[in-house]
Amino acid sequence: MHLSRFPRVRLSHLPTPLEAMPRLTALLGGPELWIKRDDCTGLSTGGNKTRKLEFLMAEALAQGADMVLTQGATQSNHARQTAAAAAKLGLDCHIILEDRTGYNEPNYRMNGNVLLDVLHGATIENRGPGLDMHAELLAVTETFRAKGRRPYAIPGGGSNPTGALGYVNCALELLAQMVDRGLSFDHMVTATGSAGTHAGLIVGLKALNAQLPLLGIGVRAPKDKQEENVFKLAQATEEKLGTQGMVKREDVVANCDYIGQGYGIPADSTLEAIDLFARQEAILLDPVYSGKGAAGLIDLIRKGHFKKGERVVFLHTGGAIGLTGYTHVLPHA
Ligand SMILES: *Cc1c(COP(=O)(O)O)cnc(C)c1O
Repeated sequence: MHLSRFPRVRLSHLPTPLEAMPRLTALLGGPELWIKRDDCTGLSTGGNKTRKLEFLMAEALAQGADMVLTQGATQSNHARQTAAAAAKLGLDCHIILEDRTGYNEPNYRMNGNVLLDVLHGATIENRGPGLDMHAELLAVTETFRAKGRRPYAIPGGGSNPTGALGYVNCALELLAQMVDRGLSFDHMVTATGSAGTHAGLIVGLKALNAQLPLLGIGVRAPKDKQEENVFKLAQATEEKLGTQGMVKREDVVANCDYIGQGYGIPADSTLEAIDLFARQEAILLDPVYSGKGAAGLIDLIRKGHFKKGERVVFLHTGGAIGLTGYTHVLPHA
């Protein structure tokens, strides 16, 4: 496996830090907790989509695109990072945002990621809930093509085999940091949504024989569906890399017990996780993904699934700018 065969533009501050969380470890009384800071990838407040966009935007440029399009929920971190990457590379960006939560608060509709989409110069159109957003994306892409543009469509979350290469690269980076620091982990935990992060990581970890079990905490789909989505994308990513067959179905594990009422709606456990990380470690989680991922981590420690004497690394996938879009559910002074 060598990633350098694939075109890539540098957009991220890498390597992202790998840090201990001693206060949270002591408070929870379970395993030694570490955090891989992919909230610090740098581009427009950072987050996990930037690693994917390094490969996706390179493909767009190689194809001669003059604009990119993508889709997501109103407070999409992916849309914001895509708008930023496009601005940096001098491409136009058009975003289709789905009202997936029904929230009508002004901050939700205009602050947080939406504010940054606009600042980066992206154009936005909105859709009601429940449509096939990928079909909407492809249809809008064709309208631009018909006008003579050269559009490149990026799927929701940047999750296709090209985008997943960014998380194969993250697995490589993490293992190198572990070797440097003489550290080993017993478990890795990440939030999992459109599947590219989870799929890329598992492909990288298996291809490198890391022997590091990975648990995805789901934010939208039920467990069976989430695991199937991740496994399919992992297989397609292996095919792209030429490492077929390393990832087995049983290597793909998701726990979808922390979604609460649905995508983009924080549960009480999400808000508790945001509070604990902010007060114990001064780390800002987000209300849609990393807050739910961390809620799963915390609950599984309390239930004894992750034990004292073990060492666990949590991937912080970013998204904290979304907090300013969620003031209506967050505590106020
Ligand atoms: C998109 C996103 C995720 C989920 O990553 P996927 O690759 O879509 O599964 C997790 N955390 C944050 C903050 C995100 O924006």
